[in-house]
Amino acid sequence: MPTTQRPPKNKPDLIIIGGGASGLAAACVAADAGLDTLLLEKEERVGRKLLATGNGRCNLMNFGEPAYWGDSAFARGVLTACGAEEVARFFEGLGLVIRREADGRAYPASGQAACVLDCLRTRLEDSQSVKVRTSCTVREIWRRGEGFSIRTQGGETFEADRLIVSAGGPAAPKLGGSESLAAELAGLGHRLVPFRPALSALMTDTAPVKGLSGLRVPACLTLFRDARPVSASAGEMLFTEYGLSGVCAMQLSREAGEGLDAGAAMEVSLDFSTLAGLAAPLMRRVRIEETDAKAAYHKMLDFLRRREGRLGAARLYTGLLPRMMAQKVQALSLQKAAQWLTALRLRVTGVRGFDAAQVSSGGLSCSDFDPGTLQSRLVPGLYVTGETLNVDGDCGGYNLLFAWATGLLAAGHAVQEAGKSRP
Ligand SMILES: Cc1cc2nc3c(=O)[nH]c(=O)nc-3n(C[C@H](O)[C@H](O)[C@H](O)COP(=O)(O)OP(=O)(O)OC[C@H]3O[C@@H](n4cnc5c(N)ncnc54)[C@H](O)[C@@H]3O)c2cc1C
Repeated sequence: MPTTQRPPKNKPDLIIIGGGASGLAAACVAADAGLDTLLLEKEERVGRKLLATGNGRCNLMNFGEPAYWGDSAFARGVLTACGAEEVARFFEGLGLVIRREADGRAYPASGQAACVLDCLRTRLEDSQSVKVRTSCTVREIWRRGEGFSIRTQGGETFEADRLIVSAGGPAAPKLGGSESLAAELAGLGHRLVPFRPALSALMTDTAPVKGLSGLRVPACLTLFRDARPVSASAGEMLFTEYGLSGVCAMQLSREAGEGLDAGAAMEVSLDFSTLAGLAAPLMRRVRIEETDAKAAYHKMLDFLRRREGRLGAARLYTGLLPRMMAQKVQALSLQKAAQWLTALRLRVTGVRGFDAAQVSSGGLSCSDFDPGTLQSRLVPGLYVTGETLNVDGDCGGYNLLFAWATGLLAAGHAVQEAGKSRP
């Protein structure tokens, strides 16, 4: 969205900082109410991160059970006040056609993240009351009487009685990620849980998987902490030069990072039973009780024996494994191959940083905020939304759902309060 033509007046009713998912949703609510609002975004365009979501397809939300970490009870409270159905109604009101998948994930039916952003931007472009300023980084926030003053990097100051901070977290800095405003809000008395990369790739020992970099396969991964299984996740996995990526690896990164920081020995075990049709192709977290490495090994061994009997040793892996993987196992005994295919263990050496992370864990402690309104319990008139709060979700649309819901609730309440204070 280009910088607005008319200079905004410096004391609107509401200032929204951040034109990402939650800030744009909040601005649309303010536009519907005709509330005089100024949205400030530091990037040249709003919604840059949104365009990259779901590999450009935007996994918009999830209609399933909430799957949140950090202040997860707070996230459930938010979604009780504004759940996936309400969020879907909001988008349908903007004209977006949504496709719901059987597992609860929802996408724009067009398969284009750009369609989601277009709906939001068009609503704001049609609005007479919401002004958008891009390339405008907010540096300072302070209390002025009952309201707020903010100063931008360029030295401009703005005032408003109500302020919504939708500035996200430090994940994906190339797409606008930054943690600067969380520290500003901590300065107003809010508690801050340190940010860490979450939903990021795992760095592992790569020698056993040398040559597989770039290969995408379905897998089930189990994370071990000091030799004890602690978490498991299934879905698409990507071998990389430094280790493992893809949804199922990223979903283990939070616990891997915590374990490594605590000095524990972390390992990940890879099970490719799905490739042989011996396990359902799941795309979700898996309970440890659902994993059974011994049973998977025996099933695979039996499968390979029968297959060798039918096709012969030379054709054993043809049509079963990607060629790069077949090269890894074809010289092994059937026992060793079954072991490699169901329980290959790699040492986890690290978790990739904010640059490679989809979300950050940590943020402002939610005990300082009301889950029904997102208003600060310490500073009335201040609202915080989305990833700036200490909530992060699993892959599958949970992070955007939380962002939309918090944006809608915060602006809904700010609009109500502004109405009350009008003469
Ligand atoms: C590659 C990638 C893929 C993803 N895919 C999905 C997915 O498919 N489904 C899903 O649910 N989640 C996905 N996520 C996560 C999701 O995008 C975020 O959780 C969500 O965008 C958070 O919304 P937000 O409003 O809190 O912050 P953001 O969307 O990050 O918006 C914050 C905005 O504030 C601006 N800003 C920051 N500081 C300032 C400042 N000082 N002054 C002015 N402006 C500022 C930023 O430039 C940014 O535009 C993905 C993330 C990435 C990186």
